[in-house]
Amino acid sequence: MTRAWNFSAGPATLPLEVLQQAREELLDWHGIGAGIMEVSHRGKAFSGVIETAEADLRELLSIPENYKVLFLQGGQTLQFAQVPMNLLAGGSADYLVTGAWSQKAYKEAARVGKTRLVSSTEDGGGRFTRLPAIEDLRFDADAAYFHLCTNETIHGVEMHEEYEARLFDAIAAAAPGVPLISDMSSHILSRPLDVRRYGLISAGAQKNIGPSGLTLVIVRDDLLGRAAAGTPTILDYRNQADNDSMLNTPSTFAIYVAGLVFKWLKARGGLAEVAAVNREKAQRLYAAIDGSGGFYRSAVGLACRSIMNVPFNLPRPELEAQFVRESEAAGFIGLKGHKSVGGIRASIYNAVPLEAVEALLHFMDAFRAANA
Ligand SMILES: *Cc1c(COP(=O)(O)O)cnc(C)c1O
Repeated sequence: MTRAWNFSAGPATLPLEVLQQAREELLDWHGIGAGIMEVSHRGKAFSGVIETAEADLRELLSIPENYKVLFLQGGQTLQFAQVPMNLLAGGSADYLVTGAWSQKAYKEAARVGKTRLVSSTEDGGGRFTRLPAIEDLRFDADAAYFHLCTNETIHGVEMHEEYEARLFDAIAAAAPGVPLISDMSSHILSRPLDVRRYGLISAGAQKNIGPSGLTLVIVRDDLLGRAAAGTPTILDYRNQADNDSMLNTPSTFAIYVAGLVFKWLKARGGLAEVAAVNREKAQRLYAAIDGSGGFYRSAVGLACRSIMNVPFNLPRPELEAQFVRESEAAGFIGLKGHKSVGGIRASIYNAVPLEAVEALLHFMDAFRAANA
């Protein structure tokens, strides 16, 4: 068996140890005579799986008691609608747009109710390469919530801890009590996180958590029970919380695999340790880009370059196509940039080992030597 060096943006690579364990348990989970996805979600076996997954996630992220963890479906895209359905309550919400995903969130929410664009960093031609200066932002003190995307997967723009903390403080000062809502799909679990800064955090699982088909929502208790009249039963967070995410059949296999990933993260020493490795992977990749004499170029400002998603360009689109072709022949997967922006993108989630990044750096050096 050969596993490729997988830099896919999502669905993305999973830890080898997790896949091996899932394979081991596929036909007979812990001696029950069936795989875990073949038995009732209300039975003892699966109840244990989802409870352990939640407990491990709570430990990894230090999720406070007054937050619920929901294992939902519909992807992050459904959250773009579900958040305003649950939280607008006839009011208006503030949206900060720093890339394609927060822009989608803003457009979707506008279909549901009243929204206000706080700021967009789009610089024409759909390019996003920076974060706004926090002192330039104006906050609505009456907003139902403030929405952001802390890691823009397509454009590679991330709010790092320091920016995130300053933004939180600015909102707390100018709009006290307005809850922050973040789409963390592509960097949740990449580093420690102060959950208490947020009213709600959500993430599609298929980037840094597990298989697709699972959406994680972490929501503060006081935000439950505010859904607009007419909200379908299953889309009301209150109902999902009251039923332990089992209002209907949840995505049992994805929850099981996510649980294995949480155990894997714990075995690596937790998120501070994982973050140190992630920083090293990113630093080495950005250093190679910046040190290539302009052959490889990152458009993203130094202060907000993503640790998880590293988009970059070559001097000409034809060279980028050649880079993708030759990388695939050399055993790499998923390096082609998102269709909306082109170029190259290396997604270096938790499950991408340092050796994969080293192999990529090697390939990039050789490609530059042959084509510069
Ligand atoms: C992938 C992604 C989405 C879309 O997720 P789906 O689960 O496919 O709906 C939204 N936001 C971010 C930041 C993403 O990376």
